[in-house]
Amino acid sequence: MKAYKDMSREELLAEKAKLEEEYEAVKAQKLQLDMSRGKPSKVQLDLSSNLMDVLDANSLLMDETGTDCRNYGVLTGIPEAKRLMGAMSEVNPEDMIIYGNSSLNVMFDTVARSYSHGVCGCTPWCKLDKVKFLCPVPGYDRHFRITEFFNIEMINIPMSETGPDMDMVEEYVNNDPAVKGIWCVPKYANPTGYTYSAETVDRFAHLKPAAEDFRIYWDNAYSIHHLYDDPDQQDFLVEILAACREAGNPDIVFKFISTSKVTFPGSGIAALAASQKNLKDAQAYMTVQTIGHDKLNQLRHVRFFGNMANMHEHMRRHAAIIRPKFELVENALEEQLGELEIGRWTCPRGGYFISFDSLDGCAKAIVAKAAEAGVKMTDAGATYPYGKDPHDSNIRIAPTFPSSKQLKKATAAFILSVKLVSVDKYLAEMA
Ligand code: PMP
Repeated sequence: MKAYKDMSREELLAEKAKLEEEYEAVKAQKLQLDMSRGKPSKVQLDLSSNLMDVLDANSLLMDETGTDCRNYGVLTGIPEAKRLMGAMSEVNPEDMIIYGNSSLNVMFDTVARSYSHGVCGCTPWCKLDKVKFLCPVPGYDRHFRITEFFNIEMINIPMSETGPDMDMVEEYVNNDPAVKGIWCVPKYANPTGYTYSAETVDRFAHLKPAAEDFRIYWDNAYSIHHLYDDPDQQDFLVEILAACREAGNPDIVFKFISTSKVTFPGSGIAALAASQKNLKDAQAYMTVQTIGHDKLNQLRHVRFFGNMANMHEHMRRHAAIIRPKFELVENALEEQLGELEIGRWTCPRGGYFISFDSLDGCAKAIVAKAAEAGVKMTDAGATYPYGKDPHDSNIRIAPTFPSSKQLKKATAAFILSVKLVSVDKYLAEMA
C-alpha cells in the first residue's frame, strides 16, 4: 500500500471512509481491553505460586546464621537473600541492602533522604534554590513523578538505541552543580526496550560531576528479563558498580533492583547496591525508618529459587509466555503499518514494553480514539517529565497483561486508531 504522505486527497478520503466503517464495527464489539500497565498476566503469576508453599508452620524459619526470621533484627537483609539478589544484579552480596517489597519505594526514599538530609553529608536539597535531574526520554512515568513531587526540575535527554545522548549528559553533569541525578533504566528500558551500550556505561562511569552529591539512579528493573533463550538474541549490559569503581568513581551510582517482574509484583523483594559509603548513608536513614524488612519473604524467595540458575530458568518460563505477545504486536504493526510511514516502533529483546512513535501531534488523539474503541493505553505524554511530550508522538504499549486473544483485538483497535488519526492529520494539512 502507498504511504499516506504520498496519497492524494481523494485517496485519503476513500481510506478514511473505509477505516471509519471498520472503526464502527470495532466499537460495536464494546471491548474493554487494557494495554496500559506493565503487569504480568495471571499465567505468569502462576509460575511463582509455589512461593506460597515453600514456608509453612513446620518449616525451619531461621536464616543460615540461626536468626529467627519471624522476629525483629537483621536490618540490611539475611545473608542468603543478599547472595541471591547479589547474583541477580551481578554485585558482591556485601555491596547491597535488601529492602521491602518495592524498588520504586527505595528510589523514592533515596530522593527523599537527599532532599531532607543531603547525600553523604552534603547540603540537603531542600536548602538549595535549584535541584535538577536529567531524564532520558521517553522514560518511566513513575520516576518522573518522584522528582516532580520534590519540585526537582527535570531536563529531557533524548534516548537512542545505545542509551541517553551522552554528549548532553556530560555537558550537564560535568558543568552544572544543580544537576544532582539522572534516571536510568539501562537494560530493556521502559518503554523503548533499549539497552545501554558498553561505551555509554563507560562514559557514565567516567563522568566528572560538578556536584559532589550527583548520583546515577540506575534502575535495573529488567536485568534478567530476556525474551529469547539464545544468548545472541539477548542484550548485554556492562555492570555499572564495577565500572565506576575502576574509573575511580565508586560513589557515583545507586543501583536498584527487585523481583517484582520475577515473582509477584508488590510482594517481591527489592534491593539497593552501591558503594560502602553510600550504603552507610542509606542505612543511617533506614535505622530510623524501620526495625527491619520482611525476612520471611526473603527466606521464601531464597528457598523457592535456591540459586541463580533456577531464577534464570524461571525467567525462561516467563519469556515463553510473553515472547509470543510481543511478536503478535510487532507482526501486526509491521503488517498493517509497515508501508504507511505513519509510525515507528521498537522491537525489544526483553523487558515489558514496546515504544511506539506516531506522526508528530497525533499521540493524544490516537490514545483517545483507542479509548473510545474500548482499549486503554498508557496516557500519551506519560513517558515524558510533567506528562509533556514535546512532539506528542510517543505511546507506550504494554503487551504482557492481556491474553493473546484480547491482545490481538486491542492491537487491531490501536492500529486502526493510528491510521484514522494519521489520515485526519494529512487531510487537515491539505485543507
Ligand atoms: N522500575 C521500572 C523501570 C519499572 O518498569 C517498574 C515497574 N513497572 C518498577 C521500577 C517498579 O518496581 P517495583 O515493583 O520493584 O517497585
